[in-house]
Amino acid sequence: TKYVYAFSEGSRDMADLLGGKGAGLAEMTRLGLPVPPGFTVTTEACKVYLATGEEPDELGVEVARALADLERAMGRSLGAPEDPLLVSVRSGARFSMPGMMETILDIGLNDDSVTGLAKASGQERFAWDSYRRLVQMFGRTVMGVDGDLFEQAISDHMAQRHVATDHELDTTELVKLTDDFKAIIREATGEEFPQDPADQLARAIRAVFDSWNGERAHVYRRREHIPEDLGTAVNIQAMVFGNLGGDSGTGVAFTRDPATGESGVYGDYLPDAQGEDVVSGVRDALPLTELEHLDPRAYAALGGHLRTLENHYRDLCDVEFTVERGKLWILQTRVGKRTAEAAFRIAHDLGEEGTISADEALMRVDGAELTRLMFPRFDTAGAAEPIAHGVPASPGAAVGVAVFDSAEAVRRAAAGERTVLVRRETTPDDLPGMIAAEAVLTSRGGKTSHAAVVARGMGKVCVCGAESLAVDPAAHRFTAPDGTVVTEGDTLSVDGTAGTVHLGELPLTASDVGRALQSGTSTGALTDAVLGALRHADSLRRLEVRANADTPEDAARARALGAQGIGLCRTEHMFLGERRALVEAMILADDDTAREQALAALLPLQREDFTGILEAMDGLPVTIRLLDPPLHEFLPDRTELALRIAAAEDPDPRDRALLKAVERMDEQNPMLGLRGVRLGLAVPGLTAMQVRAVAEAVTARLRAGGDPRAEIMIPLVGTVEELRLARTEVERVLAEVAEETGTPFDCPIGTMIELPRAALTADRIAEAADFFSFGTNDLTQTTWGLSRDDAEASFFPLYLDQGVFEVSPFETIDQDGVGRLVEIAAAAGRAANPDLETGVCGEHGGDPASIHFFHRVGLDYVSCSPFRIPAARLEAGRAAL
Ligand code: PEP
Ligand code: MG
Repeated sequence: TKYVYAFSEGSRDMADLLGGKGAGLAEMTRLGLPVPPGFTVTTEACKVYLATGEEPDELGVEVARALADLERAMGRSLGAPEDPLLVSVRSGARFSMPGMMETILDIGLNDDSVTGLAKASGQERFAWDSYRRLVQMFGRTVMGVDGDLFEQAISDHMAQRHVATDHELDTTELVKLTDDFKAIIREATGEEFPQDPADQLARAIRAVFDSWNGERAHVYRRREHIPEDLGTAVNIQAMVFGNLGGDSGTGVAFTRDPATGESGVYGDYLPDAQGEDVVSGVRDALPLTELEHLDPRAYAALGGHLRTLENHYRDLCDVEFTVERGKLWILQTRVGKRTAEAAFRIAHDLGEEGTISADEALMRVDGAELTRLMFPRFDTAGAAEPIAHGVPASPGAAVGVAVFDSAEAVRRAAAGERTVLVRRETTPDDLPGMIAAEAVLTSRGGKTSHAAVVARGMGKVCVCGAESLAVDPAAHRFTAPDGTVVTEGDTLSVDGTAGTVHLGELPLTASDVGRALQSGTSTGALTDAVLGALRHADSLRRLEVRANADTPEDAARARALGAQGIGLCRTEHMFLGERRALVEAMILADDDTAREQALAALLPLQREDFTGILEAMDGLPVTIRLLDPPLHEFLPDRTELALRIAAAEDPDPRDRALLKAVERMDEQNPMLGLRGVRLGLAVPGLTAMQVRAVAEAVTARLRAGGDPRAEIMIPLVGTVEELRLARTEVERVLAEVAEETGTPFDCPIGTMIELPRAALTADRIAEAADFFSFGTNDLTQTTWGLSRDDAEASFFPLYLDQGVFEVSPFETIDQDGVGRLVEIAAAAGRAANPDLETGVCGEHGGDPASIHFFHRVGLDYVSCSPFRIPAARLEAGRAAL
């Protein structure tokens, strides 16, 4: 195995082996871009190290050989006393993990070469500042010394010299500081700071390997679903310096705006600085366009390289670059992270420009992004002025209480509270809090600061660089320019689209995309892009998309969003509210007459419901499910009722009767009890009433000239015998109503597959069914033996943490288990009944990953809540590619 590749030996296709950064450096080298030369230690070497605790035997030799080649190319030697070569050592995994792992700069400096660097650069202070940074960084990340000790030493020196920033420490002071740093290391580890450059390099590489298993890297991977076993590559690259004076600097540039997707070069530039300074947001960067005035030649060269990269990668690229005394160097490139808005606009624009095909453009966006764009935004009409303005770094509207440290955000989120994490700037250590918070607000840093990059990657609302805010993290408060003091626990509304912060909770209103999807009309570049992508998805997809809806209003909304019918109308939702009394009467009836009376009172109400829904979905299928949940759900709580009776002087006899009924119906496991088809078979007249309501509604719609397409669905069937019994009753009532009205009509009768036994005997069940609808909520519950109502709040966090699940099986279909049952049942059902229609109406019907699975197993449709329909259409289209 070869563990080390020179940049000139790799390519973009080798990202698994070289990591994203290494592959990008190799590709740019091949393209002839000005990349400081270097080499990459592969992820394979890291995997060996992580598995065995030792680097592979050959690694040392290979690194030495690659270093010798690098020294020859540069005409300088690592850490030589005269004009030393220095290198950076950076992590770079397959998937970008910004700031989550270690970087060590200026490897090669020691007590001798620091003088060589001073001479070669003509800048003594710069050389010593670089050396003290190396000792500090190496001490902390490689030798494990507490970073605060170094910070304290810097503060002490600043205090002695009466200066406010470390920039004001002179050379003499930096020499002393470096000595102090070395003493700190000696004290803490009993070891000297290593003077041998080769030793420094080897240990730095190992430290990067180790950082793969650092706490924040773990947290980030879990959040982003990045596998734990990929390992990181390590990039060793000749140092170039952006901090050699006014003709030097460093920056980040994008080929398009990563926040809005607008075309045109975009980025930040920081004169006389190192890369880390931009990302940390410690110093405020200039807009990139300033570079045009400062150094027109470097600016023009950069623009040319950005075009080269975008044409080559055919996508938004970002780069980190450094200008060293007027010479431009590109240090990194990748296909850039972007907001959901930018993703749609860029894909659309690249498609229009002919750079990518319509299919490729569709693959560049996804349902989760579309859903994010549909989130409501703040309605600022009549609201007070914002208390702060900042950089709109990651869009969306978020409300939460202000918190001033990561741990507090995590604590409050665990208690169910929504928070806004307020910091001067964020560091990778703030990651848990950023995940827990609804929004991130910082007073420093631009669109490329850590806070902005990480929040954007997560789709989290972020306003950064709100410079007018005086943030005091120690006192847990900030002061706005108008004097408003916000302390921990105060409610804020953060608008990441406008870059504003309001005190209190602002009302919400539909987003532009939400409106455009409802109305079908575009209002700008973004909605053009979204509607265009959906049109293309619709032209490709095989899966139909229906809605889970049980009111005429929901049905109409779903239809506007593109629903091709209703896949699940849950009739129990029509038994709530004022009708509860009627349901109680039905349950309490102690003879047939009383029960018939109660059912007769429910009939017209159900009929009206169905008529409205059939009207809203005229011409499209409406799958009406007979009553499913256990009846006691419609009765009062047993304990409350008992208490009420005990407390009353003269208890209501109705209450006593109710309590008896509640006690009679009480079940240890109601989810496995008298519900679903069992209910219809056990409660005389219930199925008949519901079917009659459907039939009369259909007839009414037919008479009104409509095109009603009702279908009747029997829930929770375990054996074909149950379905046969229920079906017989349904057909009997349909025939009865047809006889009465003289208007016969077609009404498919099908069943839900939501028990493993039903899935495994699907061939038999299909003989009595016109369609199958997979109830994957119950099917997941019964296949795993996990309560859908309790498990997610109980031990799921632990399971997710320990990697038992990567995602909740109630959210994304468990393909190996539950999915396998779906596959078996669909195939067996179709084999037994070639006309069988198949769909899914559990929550998974609106989940992107699950939709791709349902496409693969050949279902006819997915059904999901109205809000998820556009995303489901998009994903169904992508699944067909
Ligand atoms: C299901 O179980 O997946 C289903 C759609 O039915 P419900 O959620 O109403 O139990
Ligand atoms: Mg169910």
